[in-house]
Amino acid sequence: MMKLNANQLNFSGGPGALPESVLQQLQTAMLCVPEVGLSILGISHRSQWFAQVVHELEDNIRQLMGLPDTTRVLMMQGGATQQFSMLPMNLLRDGQSADYIHSGYWSGKAIHEAEKSGKLNLAWSGKADQFSRLPSDAELQLSKDAAYFHYISNETVEGLQFHRVPGRDDVPRICDMSSDLLSAPGEFNRYAMIYAHAQKNIGPAGVTLVILRDDFMQTLPKDLPGFINYHAQADAHSIYNTPPVFAIYSVLLVTRWLLHDIGGLHNIAKHNELKAACLYQVLDDYADFYRGRAAIADRSNMNVVFNLPNAEIEQAFLQAAQQAGFSGLNGHRSIGGIRASIYNGLEIAAADQLADFMQTFYKRYKISTPQTSGLSTAYA
Ligand code: PMP
Repeated sequence: MMKLNANQLNFSGGPGALPESVLQQLQTAMLCVPEVGLSILGISHRSQWFAQVVHELEDNIRQLMGLPDTTRVLMMQGGATQQFSMLPMNLLRDGQSADYIHSGYWSGKAIHEAEKSGKLNLAWSGKADQFSRLPSDAELQLSKDAAYFHYISNETVEGLQFHRVPGRDDVPRICDMSSDLLSAPGEFNRYAMIYAHAQKNIGPAGVTLVILRDDFMQTLPKDLPGFINYHAQADAHSIYNTPPVFAIYSVLLVTRWLLHDIGGLHNIAKHNELKAACLYQVLDDYADFYRGRAAIADRSNMNVVFNLPNAEIEQAFLQAAQQAGFSGLNGHRSIGGIRASIYNGLEIAAADQLADFMQTFYKRYKISTPQTSGLSTAYA
């Protein structure tokens, strides 16, 4: 089997692993961007070169997602968290209300922020089921006069992913796709706005993509302070103030990789499905030991989240995994357990290797503790 290096075995929930070819180009750019002759860290955001980077990146995003030229693509700062506040500050000013789905940790954060700006209608909450599943269409309580409908396509912490587009087509649909944008094709034209920070599938932390349909953009207020004003950001082509040049350039390289090396979102989706399938297969084959958190229909192709029989065995698993070269497998601090994040940059071979490790770990566990009553030292 090919020996994978530490970066290739990085299953971190975010910032996530980036493709090796992108890292190599960034290594070169750190000293000198060939076409400029300067380090990427010292190139002016007002340079012609950077304007071209932004222009190409906007085009690449539209091309990958199949969006018309009229769609506005913004590169913003403040992470997805800034969007949690900025959105309602823009849209709930006139006493209107918005529909939100509460499907896990991050949608809870979005709701908490939005409540500070206006009224919300909880269209559905998964709290009673400990956020182990997503709603059916019939369960959603949607309002036809909502200012917008908000949900998160992939709950990064719980490993829940919508495999359809929920919501009404006559209410602006807004989605946080921070942990699955550009990981698969989708019906992106059905969204008024999509946002996603880069640090999972798209690049390093520091830049957040905000994609706005032109007709929706026209409905947004123009008189807000610049930093929370989508028009100001769009008019400046993402150079409203000094943007994170390095992060934006990195995202450009990832989009080039997706377009030219991978061949588009259909192909990356096939990679991601294969990685997810081999890990979920282990969960299904050893279901008494590896306990998947998400309902099968809502399993995420990005974050495979599971528990082992007890916290002691989970610690032993993490320790053994670390010794075997894997990293980033610990679950989110809010729920613990194990999380294998398999973003775009993670190769299929890495997921295969983790699946093998999980099988071996299970077998060694069964041999060393036939009653599954405790943890043998031979195993830890
Ligand atoms: N939304 C989702 C789906 C996330 O996974 C995260 C962070 N992992 C956030 C929002 C918060 O993002 P940020 O730290 O960029 O503000």
